[in-house]
Amino acid sequence: MERIKVYTHTPSEVVIGKDLNDEAVRFLPEQTKKAVLLWDESVNSKYVAELGNSIEATGREVMAISVEGGENAKTLGSYERVTRIMMEYNLTRTDVLIGIGGGTVTDLAGFIASTYKRGIKLVQIPTTLLAACDASVGGKNALNLGPAKNAIGTFYQPSLVLIDTRFFATLNDKTYSEGCAEIIKSGFLGDAKLVDMLDEKSLIENRADEEYVIEVLRRSIKIKAEIVAEDELDNGIRNVLNFGHTLGHAIEEESDYKIHHGEAVAMGMVLITQVAEKKGIAESGTLARLIRILTSHKLEWRCPYNIHALIKHVYNDKKLKGGKVTLVLPEHAGGCILVNVPMEELRAWLTE
Ligand code: NAD
Repeated sequence: MERIKVYTHTPSEVVIGKDLNDEAVRFLPEQTKKAVLLWDESVNSKYVAELGNSIEATGREVMAISVEGGENAKTLGSYERVTRIMMEYNLTRTDVLIGIGGGTVTDLAGFIASTYKRGIKLVQIPTTLLAACDASVGGKNALNLGPAKNAIGTFYQPSLVLIDTRFFATLNDKTYSEGCAEIIKSGFLGDAKLVDMLDEKSLIENRADEEYVIEVLRRSIKIKAEIVAEDELDNGIRNVLNFGHTLGHAIEEESDYKIHHGEAVAMGMVLITQVAEKKGIAESGTLARLIRILTSHKLEWRCPYNIHALIKHVYNDKKLKGGKVTLVLPEHAGGCILVNVPMEELRAWLTE
């Protein structure tokens, strides 16, 4: 079992291991009388029931609310449905909400926990690799507003993130590899040893190797935890976590979300590393290494869209300031820099 502290304003802890129900029970404050399990109905319901039973065995009450995972979970409609049930259940501020699911459900749980009665305790149990290494850690959450993805959200730290690797067994290869893209991203932006590991031993080919999965997740989450602790509210250095994301988001939008986040990030990382290498910012060979690792993790890295089509989405990016976009450019496989570039310069770089 591995533990990582996240030194944010309200500190948070991430625990990675197998069968972590005891950890969840140990965490519950004495004054907590009720727990709501907000769970994605695609996960193995046996583990959700076991968690509920462990909590009930301490004399507390448990209510389970299921949601269908996916972007439809992140709507005002599901927000209202779940909070109304919590109100009727008389969940108080000293009680706990436990989000169990992929990034869409952990985002929904985070948003609810931060607003319900102005904030109740939150535990996240991510069940996709992407949610484990990224969405559930760091305190950002969001809901979609119609077609506007992540249009509303808050910063709210979970008290605890429990990564119980048993949940990953039911993930299909595609969803698993989408999570791998974020782990590869972490390596490229700040951990050369993690890149070496992924290069030598593909995570997706070795997903049954428990120790390896835990070690890779630990390294990836540690990078995010350190960056978030430095810039919790995303005003500066936290931007480096967006390696591959500016163009990745544009690719997701252009595909009308048929290309999923992880796949789009893989393509976005390749496009921007191509630029970095052409400009002499990235060491030669960085791009080839990135492509090799993405390929061994079954990720498509070739972007099917024209650069001009993507640029028009970047213009709408909420991070665009004064006509400039902050790009994350790799210097080598394990280090990145932030560069502020006018939009037209980005267009020129990409079409050169
Ligand atoms: P997801 O939640 O849609 O999960 C993908 C699919 O896998 C869904 O169909 C889900 O029902 C299913 N699923 C979940 N766990 C499963 C399991 N154990 N077994 C079988 N199926 C399972 O998507 P995701 O890739 O986990 O997360 C993407 C979301 O995360 C996006 O909405 C994105 O905006 C958000 N996100 C948030 C942050 C953040 O910092 N808040 C960071 C990155 C991504």
